[in-house]
Amino acid sequence: MTFINKIISAFGQYSGRNAFCIEDTFYTYGDLLSISASIISKIENTCPGEQRIGIVVTDCIETYASIIALLLSGRTYIPIHPHHPADRTQQIIDQAELKVILAKGTDVQFSSVQNIDSTYTPSTTGPASYNLSQYPINLQQNAYILFTSGSTGIPKGVPITYNNLNSFVDAFFALGYNINENARFLQMFDLTFDLSVMSYLIPLCVGGCVYTISFKGMKFTNVYSVLEDHNITFALMVPSILANLRQYFQEIDLPELKYSLFCGEALNADITNEWRRCIPNAAIENVYGPTEATIFCLTYPVPADDSVSTYNGIISIGKEMQGMEAIVVNSDLQQLPDGEKGELCLYGPQLTSGYLDEQKSREAFFELNGKKYYKTGDIAYRNEQGDFMYSGRVDSQVKIQGYRVELSEIEFHLRQVAEPANAVAITINNKNGLAEIHAVIEGTTNITETLLNKLEQKVPAYMIPTEVHYIATFPLNTNGKTDRKELAKIFQQS
Ligand code: AMP
Repeated sequence: MTFINKIISAFGQYSGRNAFCIEDTFYTYGDLLSISASIISKIENTCPGEQRIGIVVTDCIETYASIIALLLSGRTYIPIHPHHPADRTQQIIDQAELKVILAKGTDVQFSSVQNIDSTYTPSTTGPASYNLSQYPINLQQNAYILFTSGSTGIPKGVPITYNNLNSFVDAFFALGYNINENARFLQMFDLTFDLSVMSYLIPLCVGGCVYTISFKGMKFTNVYSVLEDHNITFALMVPSILANLRQYFQEIDLPELKYSLFCGEALNADITNEWRRCIPNAAIENVYGPTEATIFCLTYPVPADDSVSTYNGIISIGKEMQGMEAIVVNSDLQQLPDGEKGELCLYGPQLTSGYLDEQKSREAFFELNGKKYYKTGDIAYRNEQGDFMYSGRVDSQVKIQGYRVELSEIEFHLRQVAEPANAVAITINNKNGLAEIHAVIEGTTNITETLLNKLEQKVPAYMIPTEVHYIATFPLNTNGKTDRKELAKIFQQS
């Protein structure tokens, strides 16, 4: 049964049960179906042949119904973040060759495309009768295209097919979580981030309810309120949330939580141990995977005792999910034996067939023994238990509160303003132990304001440096290159 059939069956079985809770308003499966049906008819009436459609993603039922409408009708959705700079959005529209964008209301309009207002007005004649099985799904078709940070200043488009997504859903259920229509799921992610896909799709496959997090106010406090107020039973989060919540751990008690999954960043053993006391009845899992391999594809159930596998205090990322294969290679792309560190590479049905930009694919994929592997850029080794251990990156990609950021993308924009002065982006850990981006300029002329203004027009808010530092001359490492580690040390102390 494909995930599409699972969702269709949930619509049939659970029509009166809640599918979503958004800002304390509940929407049933029946409501979701009516809204999705109205969106499909808008599309059929205005642009029936359009396969790829953009969605301006906000925290409202029309956004989720738009995604479901596009998936159920076999189309491809491309999420567009309403707060990202116009330049970046235009690059996404161009790369994805979008001609149509769905948005709730008419506030956000794009001049280069046809805009469709997804606002739902209930029909006086009752919900549209709707034949869900009329759309045969082509599994080779893309289900969504997400854009991640690209080192050359242009976002990288990752297409994920229905087959990729279906493989993820099958592998997810093979993990054996005990979830059904009574489960209550947290959805804390921007819909431009692929962990959001698990957070709304899996609940809809079992008839459960999705509880979203408001964009307003502090995200981590909103996450905690939803976990507590709605007795969430299944939560996938980024580890950064724990660093922010740590100061409240004494007061947090979530006995209803059954599954606490972490993904997107290295999971620290110390803080995870402390978190366990807040969730006495939950299993903790560290899951791992890049957008290119559809949401996540390795999992490590974290044991409650001290048998937990760690490397430098970081919890193991575990073993491959059903159908996936992970190997470790050296810089000549030769497979390394267990115990030796190298670059982690992935192969299997969850893997994208390549980026929209073919040149980028040539750099990131390679063939070995007749299989096409993806080079994750993550450094890892496999231990005696067959679990993979994460130990950093081969490149300058970092995670900022779970968001994937290429420091070289920021530097590309920094240099445009700083030239002829040299400029780099580094990460510094703040008092909560969270990575922050800082910019360092070689020279003494203060250009902070121009720099930040320029960046605001080019990159999302989480990529804007928290601080800009100046130094007369950059320190060099033994290869004669700018020593970023040294710069981080210098400014860490300041
Ligand atoms: P994204 O494409 O945004 O999902 O980012 C994927 C990257 O996040 C991976 O290549 C890793 O660098 C990092 N990542 C994801 N999950 C984990 C994890 N459980 N532990 C350590 N790093 C992770």
